[in-house]
Amino acid sequence: MHCPFCGEHETKVVDSRLVAEGQQIRRRRECISCHERFTTFEAAELLMPKVVKNDGTRQPFDEDKLRAGIQRALEKRPVSVEEFEACLTRIKHRLRATGERELPSREVGEAVMQELHKLDQVAYVRFASVYRSFQDIHEFRQEIDRLASHKVPSEASE
Ligand SMILES: [Zn+2]
Repeated sequence: MHCPFCGEHETKVVDSRLVAEGQQIRRRRECISCHERFTTFEAAELLMPKVVKNDGTRQPFDEDKLRAGIQRALEKRPVSVEEFEACLTRIKHRLRATGERELPSREVGEAVMQELHKLDQVAYVRFASVYRSFQDIHEFRQEIDRLASHKVPSEASE
């Protein structure tokens, strides 16, 4: 990149190291012309798809919101922080793996439910009941029955 001080095209890297637990590379650079030094950070760009809501509006993927929703579902459940984080990572991986730049919010919800289903059945039902906002108790009952009889197929497609 060009020197931010004088605009010189060539700069040399004088130091380079991993930061943020290996998620970023920090580089100290020196301009070959004015000898000013500056720092750049490099990180992999892991873009999450935008979320298309039911009314057609687009929203950036909101990890905090997702995190909060899953935490609520997991309240007082015997799930460790590590398991929770791993679940969150799998959900994000799943969404990125679609390769889509936009995803309907319904698909995001389904991805969350599929992972929660594997993690904790109670959390799954809690999340599903909020997410799907079951119209009536009958519909909710059906979902519970479906859950009870339904075995998740092993994932060969990942
Ligand atoms: Zn310079």
